[in-house]
Amino acid sequence: MPTTMEKIVSLCKRRGFVFPSSEIYGGLNGFWDYGPLGVELKRNIKEAWWRDMVTRHDDLTAPPGAPEAFEMTGLDCSIIMHPQVWKCSGHFDLFHDFMVDCRESRKRYRHDQLKGRWVEAKGQQLFIAAEDGESLEEDLKRQAMKYFNLRGKDEGLLQWQGEIVSATGVQDLGRILAPHAKEPGTLTEPREFNLMFKTIVGALSGEDASAFLRPETAQGIFVNFKNVLDSTRIRLPFGIAQIGKSFRNEITPRNFTFRSREFEQMEIEFFCHPAQSQDWYRYWRDRRFRWYTELGLAEDRLRLREHEPSELSHYSCGTADIEYAFPFLAADDFGELEGVAHRGDFDLRSHMEGKLDPHSKPDLRVETSEDGKPKWRGSGKDLSYRDDLTGEKYVPHVIEPSAGADRATLAFLCEAYHEDEAPDEKGELQSRVVMRLHPRLAPIKAAVLPLVKKDGMPEVAQEIYRRLKKRFSVFYDEKAAIGRRYRRQDEVGTPFCLTVDGETLRDQTVTIRDRDSLQQDRVPVEECESWLLARLG
Ligand code: ATP
Repeated sequence: MPTTMEKIVSLCKRRGFVFPSSEIYGGLNGFWDYGPLGVELKRNIKEAWWRDMVTRHDDLTAPPGAPEAFEMTGLDCSIIMHPQVWKCSGHFDLFHDFMVDCRESRKRYRHDQLKGRWVEAKGQQLFIAAEDGESLEEDLKRQAMKYFNLRGKDEGLLQWQGEIVSATGVQDLGRILAPHAKEPGTLTEPREFNLMFKTIVGALSGEDASAFLRPETAQGIFVNFKNVLDSTRIRLPFGIAQIGKSFRNEITPRNFTFRSREFEQMEIEFFCHPAQSQDWYRYWRDRRFRWYTELGLAEDRLRLREHEPSELSHYSCGTADIEYAFPFLAADDFGELEGVAHRGDFDLRSHMEGKLDPHSKPDLRVETSEDGKPKWRGSGKDLSYRDDLTGEKYVPHVIEPSAGADRATLAFLCEAYHEDEAPDEKGELQSRVVMRLHPRLAPIKAAVLPLVKKDGMPEVAQEIYRRLKKRFSVFYDEKAAIGRRYRRQDEVGTPFCLTVDGETLRDQTVTIRDRDSLQQDRVPVEECESWLLARLG
């Protein structure tokens, strides 16, 4: 039986949501392409985010839970920025993971993503390691059985000790059996690996010409903070939003699009007075959580997880992750969809004064080299804010809700996937796959279907299609039996099917079938547009 995740990946390929990048050449690990339906779905998600956060935001009224009314605006910054940006942001020094290589299998793993358990058998004690995931326990057992050359009936000879833990806690690498290795001790010492992709600007190669593809969109907002202040009449508190590509040379891209090397982020930097920052942090954390539930993610598969003090970035006074129970994870496990972080004034001050030393709490001082000079020089520009009403001048604090468009797309796809039964044209129940996507997100909003391909029905249906197409993404289909056409639409999440039948020709009404309730309403042709508009928002 394929797992739910395998079924979702297969549907994504079959129906044109997501393809492996450069697939005809065997694909490229960590890179994905969105197909004809996937591009619409992802655009709808980004559009929903932009509208809800920026264009439809009411600057004049305090939303529920917000300390006061605030403004929202947007930016679209370049992917390659001045290399100093990444030195001051901390990415150049700190943005790395530890990785280990297996000398035998030649595979590379992120050290913290290797999980395992101690086991003893035949007088030998080993740490069996496997890659974290849905089948972790099974993988560990299989590997231990294979290594100790045991058959199923001898499983009892394995004496497991302690819980499953991260391999990072195991000092003696010689006693780790790596995931695909035949012998223990094949892993190298963990090595640092910078996650930023390097590139060359201009014709000359060399250290001076090298730059980075941005690993997050946030820094573009910080370095434009002054431009936004100077070019608009915006006042604090306000937020700047940006959607765009980010790149991270992830060591082990996996779980479909969840961990990719090229992905899109939807980020807000919200600037406020330091005294109000905790209230704004709570506001954004709760508001962003609600955004996902309003668009259809089930609350019992979502979790708002406040970071423990030990997990917080040194300068952060609070971070919460919005996490989703993705089907590729073990039961009770959640994966990050979005992080909402209270970043204090770390970023603006670093770009102003020079990279701050994140350990120099509570005041945060500029990090210096041995000669006492700033390790990475800031821009020297004044990035503080002057309140023209009170005269107060200060460096704003920042709340950062940082979401991934690809992870959101994946979560909505996983949530939408259902298998159930629906009656065919003869009233017999047939199994179907139905994507219960929220109508705002569905790639196709409605299908227009003539019941049969004769008696003038196609002409009437095409007329309706042309009229609706001016406003909505609608699809016309006259091929195959009506039941099959319904199922094709269910499988891609089309919320409504408009069918032109014999009655349409007599009384100018169509049936509109609801994907989820299967209820059929008779609606006058003239009213189809307003009927859809009322349901699609
Ligand atoms: P993780 O711990 O999963 O690597 P992160 O904490 O490094 O994520 P952030 O730096 O907070 O992630 O980035 C903000 C958001 O960007 C994440 O919540 C996620 O939605 C998205 N994101 C980050 N890395 C990736 C990736 N490799 N592939 C897809 N989306 C990503």
